[in-house]
Amino acid sequence: GRKFFVGGNWKCNGTTDEVKKIISTLNAAEVPSQDVVEVVVSPPYVFLPLTQASLRPDFHVAAQNCWVKKGGAYTGEVSAEMLVNLGVPWVIIGHSERRQLLGESNEFVGEKVAYALSQGLKVIACVGETLEQRESGSTMEVVAAQTKAIADRVSDWTNIVIAYEPVWAIGTGKVATPAQAQEVHHELRKWLHANTSPAVAESTRIIYGGSVNGANCKELGGQPDVDGFLVGGASLKPEFIDIIKAAE
Ligand code: 13P
Repeated sequence: GRKFFVGGNWKCNGTTDEVKKIISTLNAAEVPSQDVVEVVVSPPYVFLPLTQASLRPDFHVAAQNCWVKKGGAYTGEVSAEMLVNLGVPWVIIGHSERRQLLGESNEFVGEKVAYALSQGLKVIACVGETLEQRESGSTMEVVAAQTKAIADRVSDWTNIVIAYEPVWAIGTGKVATPAQAQEVHHELRKWLHANTSPAVAESTRIIYGGSVNGANCKELGGQPDVDGFLVGGASLKPEFIDIIKAAE
């Protein structure tokens, strides 16, 4: 089976003291074992070393982005090689905030995923439709095009987790219903079956993100094609521990 995956995306939040506090809360928590749930937290770049140095060993870290190719004269960017050099195992790529606010295209995101994988990183690749796209009935078309831009450039899916994050659900408190999440996850898995391989479709984890909290996580996580979560706001709070426990 697919191991449950819970990611905490801290986005552009936190001070050193706040990060230390979040980590000590996580470190003190009793959660299911690593055989049951894979937990990955994603601090801003500048807090990666602090987080790596103090986070419990059964939890891992992710960067929130990386450069599209080998490092060099790209002011302000952080390369995949640097993350590998620091011992950061995971990176989030294609988050909707980067697609929308920084203009990252499907192709650019696909190239980033392929390059990060080639350097040995594991990737949380984000897809998801806007409210307008959902209301016009193009959700699956949009999500398939985003996934295709990755599939066109990647053959080994072992180190990819797909995060389905409907843009209308991110930071809005308007969580997708369990049925809405299940529908898209199921369609995505069918898409993988037809366009990659049955084995990739069966083994690739598809996690849900968008207003996940301690109260709604259990029912969402109980859907057959929902293999975990990517949590924003609630990952900064002790509530994140309740979400990790939804793996059980
Ligand atoms: P919220 O949980 O704050 O809605 O954010 C979800 C998200 O974007 C995780 O990457």
